[in-house]
Amino acid sequence: MSLNLILLGPPGAGKGTQAQFLIEKFGIPQVSTGDMLRAAVAAGTEMGLKAKACMDAGDLVPDAVVVGIVKDRLQEADCAKGYILDGFPRTVAQADALASALAEGGQKIDAVVAFEVDKEALVSRLTGRRACTGCSAGYHVDYDPPKVDGVCDKCGAKLFQRDDDQEETIRKRLEVYDNQTAPLVGYYEKAGQLKRVDGMLPIDQVKQTVLDLLPGV
Ligand code: ADP
Ligand code: ADP
Ligand code: ZN
Repeated sequence: MSLNLILLGPPGAGKGTQAQFLIEKFGIPQVSTGDMLRAAVAAGTEMGLKAKACMDAGDLVPDAVVVGIVKDRLQEADCAKGYILDGFPRTVAQADALASALAEGGQKIDAVVAFEVDKEALVSRLTGRRACTGCSAGYHVDYDPPKVDGVCDKCGAKLFQRDDDQEETIRKRLEVYDNQTAPLVGYYEKAGQLKRVDGMLPIDQVKQTVLDLLPGV
């Protein structure tokens, strides 16, 4: 059986947090365009340098760049049994490109899980978000704190705050979401693939809701 999922929702909605549970439950990889772009920035590749300017400004990286990265990633062996797309697609053009790439390979998306969260909750989630420098596990200083301040429970590495998780950039990213990504909710609803989730619930309850609505599991 293969399971191809899209996690859709604004920055801070809990996509990465829930992806961590789904990876364990289904043994399929998370494909996070944000993580892949940050890795390219850290590696100092030409693509990373270009992407960094967009990311720092809270803007989207050009569709062609992101679509290229995702197409390559989905060809890798570990995606054969399915994958969890986190943070992609983010524009209608990306969604169309994904649909044609999948159709070529005789594949399809099984479900699009859309997380709904109030704007002010998103801001407080993002300002308090921390990530692990070692294994990229996510935390929150109040809502999901590590056992030891600033240290990852899973691997013991240090936690850090992302450059773009500053209030001004956060507001810009939320505006970009409303303008460019929110239309995908209607796009996937029309396609009959959308499953809405109340993302305001505590992390464990969101996890249970997501598991309950996934097809055939
Ligand atoms: P996204 O990947 O959608 O941008 P994250 O999964 O990184 O969002 O979550 C953003 C922040 O909010 C993180 O600090 C995370 O610990 C926290 N968080 C995630 N889900 C919840 C929730 N249901 N309730 C409260 N805080 C949450
Ligand atoms: P979040 O879920 O908190 O918004 P991500 O890690 O998904 O953060 O994305 C961080 C940044 O990376 C975005 O603000 C954007 O600049 C870039 N990015 C990530 N995914 C995409 C995408 N699918 N299309 C364009 N830009 C992207
Ligand atoms: Zn870690």
